[in-house]
Amino acid sequence: TRAISLRDVTKTFPRNVVAVHRLNLDIAPGEFVVLLGPSGCGKSTVLRMIAGLEDITSGRLLLDGEYANHLPPGQRQLAMVFQDYALYPNMTSRQNIGFPLRIEAPRLDDGPRVNEAARLLGIEDLMDRYPAQLSGGERQRVAMGRAIVRRPTAFLLDEPLSNLDAKLRNRLRAEIATLTRHLGVTTVYVTHDQSEAMSLGDRVAVMRDGVLQQTGTARDVYRLPDNVFVAAFVGTPRINLLRATVYAPLDGRMSIDFGTQRIMLPQPLSDDHQLLRVQMGRPITVGVRSEAVRIAAPGEMRPSEALLNGVVQHVEYQGHESLVHVSTGARHAEVDGLEAPRPPVARGHGRRPRKHRVWRMPGR
Ligand code: ADP
Repeated sequence: TRAISLRDVTKTFPRNVVAVHRLNLDIAPGEFVVLLGPSGCGKSTVLRMIAGLEDITSGRLLLDGEYANHLPPGQRQLAMVFQDYALYPNMTSRQNIGFPLRIEAPRLDDGPRVNEAARLLGIEDLMDRYPAQLSGGERQRVAMGRAIVRRPTAFLLDEPLSNLDAKLRNRLRAEIATLTRHLGVTTVYVTHDQSEAMSLGDRVAVMRDGVLQQTGTARDVYRLPDNVFVAAFVGTPRINLLRATVYAPLDGRMSIDFGTQRIMLPQPLSDDHQLLRVQMGRPITVGVRSEAVRIAAPGEMRPSEALLNGVVQHVEYQGHESLVHVSTGARHAEVDGLEAPRPPVARGHGRRPRKHRVWRMPGR
């Protein structure tokens, strides 16, 4: 199992497309890191540079501390799995999985290691079938089998589940996490799906336009995003981003002015929020996760809560809860909240904010 380090790594494609800009990332041996970001942000390019499939324009790649920019892919002992599986259609699962071993050592009896891989992945029954006779999930397992059979020192997975339906994806991602931890192998997993990233990695690295935005545990990037992009990209269903001004604390509490309404935070700020003190009196963006918003009937506020008045615009039923869109009076200040099924609210419920002046958003 390997340590992988990227030091100040940049990748420029012809026509000056900067796919990755000065990336620094240290991945510890055995760690599972998810590269997360929207399509086109440079995730695959990072993976391909680690694999040796793409030249590094500048910066350094270290494998176990050794300079590896120019190491041929075959000598890196890394296994890569792609979203389109890349199985050979004219080979059975057994032959597909054994293929990398036969390339390395044509006369080796690959039987025991292929069987071991099949057992780990629970595909013993599928070994004599051809790819066309397998479902998407089964093909993905065979592709994983082909990756683990060489006992690589690291796995590089590029959106390995994106061609599968949602249910299978959830099951397989749990299996992949279990498998790579069982094998104790360093894993870099690329996805644009934030829920996948949150559920999988020891650590999540969020990218945007070739630039690393933040790395941290799923919990860190969710609770303490470094910037508005990370806040909005990570988490479901969505975060409310409101322009507001923060005012002087009263007995350690803080008041936030949303333009049409002002709320008083019920508790003194924790250390996490010290930054707000610095921003006092200036327009800032306040992020409120919809699950932090409770839809309350008028007059039914709890002491631990801050009250924002609004009128329900739309209710999206989502089974175990509903997503409620509430207009709070100000332009661009719709707030979404989640609501447990009882008591149901309906469009039109709520209380109009008293002051109803239109509040202009400062240019963004
Ligand atoms: P992601 O994996 O996050 O979707 P990629 O790493 O595939 O993003 O691509 C990052 C950027 O680099 C994109 O703008 C893409 O168009 C560009 N790019 C990727 N591969 C090439 C290539 N071979 N030639 C030119 N541009 C490329």
